[in-house]
Amino acid sequence: MIAQLHVSPTSFINDLRELHRQYLPLRQGKIYVSEPDLVEINPDWFGICVVTVDGQVYTVGDWEQPFLIQSISKVFAYGLALSDWGRDYVLSRVDVEPTGDAYNSLIKVEENSKRPYNPMVNTGAIAITNLIEGKGPAHRLNRLLDMYRRYVGHRVFVDTPTLVSEQTAGDRNWAIAYLLRNFGMISGGIKQTLDLYLQQCSVIINCHDLAVMGATLANNGVNPMTGEQAIHSPYVKDLLSVMFTCGMYDFAGEWVYKVGFPAKSGVGGGIIGVVPGVMGIAVFSPPLDKRGNSIRGIKVCEELSRRFGLHIFEQTASKNLDKPTHK
Ligand code: GLN
Repeated sequence: MIAQLHVSPTSFINDLRELHRQYLPLRQGKIYVSEPDLVEINPDWFGICVVTVDGQVYTVGDWEQPFLIQSISKVFAYGLALSDWGRDYVLSRVDVEPTGDAYNSLIKVEENSKRPYNPMVNTGAIAITNLIEGKGPAHRLNRLLDMYRRYVGHRVFVDTPTLVSEQTAGDRNWAIAYLLRNFGMISGGIKQTLDLYLQQCSVIINCHDLAVMGATLANNGVNPMTGEQAIHSPYVKDLLSVMFTCGMYDFAGEWVYKVGFPAKSGVGGGIIGVVPGVMGIAVFSPPLDKRGNSIRGIKVCEELSRRFGLHIFEQTASKNLDKPTHK
């Protein structure tokens, strides 16, 4: 039983299977590769996983297939920067305003403060990564990987070929980093910051890992599988707020309107969704729309929200799933 949704496990898994069947034939979109022929990515990989705050796990399709976390990392790096520096300082470095621009839009900083608009697009994310503390590059990376470990429940690793290729091909990110340093919004070596940013993006996870990360955020920062506190609870609402308003790039407004729970996408094909107090949702499917969001991922989240009344402004009474409304 998912108590908050009044739905039985059998009925819930059947719904997930039905959504998987329904959207598998949706063969649209472009796959992101940092360089041609680096890896074989099957456009039909399609996995869904839901983990509830009391540790129930629901999996469908290619939920075990490893993929790159990419921009979903921005949420968790933001959490680490908040833990290192506190809310006021972090806010003085990176604002929390949606941009309405593409994720890698070249430079968009506030006119007076020179702050990047938010931590979910590359300008803000690179400035946030720059804040991650450590005695040197290896220590900073270890802190980042250990942070992921707390959310996932086991160690995760950086995919080296991806990292090398993103380092070679990342002209836009270099340009962003130089401009940020010019504005005084990052300090120290450009290469060190960019390396750490690309390392955080090149971590390999699967749908189950991602859903546990989501469930940890849904559960006030406590990993429901291990009981470990992954992030200081008061910061969870900061992460969820920026995910809600900025997590889907220039689709963020429509996402809030149609889906209505905090989420974040990555060009690896993953989408993480968080229904606070209830569950984490992960969908993985590599083909992306022109904004860099997984096409099947959006469909699954839209449909889950609609069927189960997951929009956070939907009144509780309608979260009764014994009789899915299929409005
Ligand atoms: N590594 C990618 C970049 O910074 C991540 C982008 C993404 O997932 N949107 O360009």
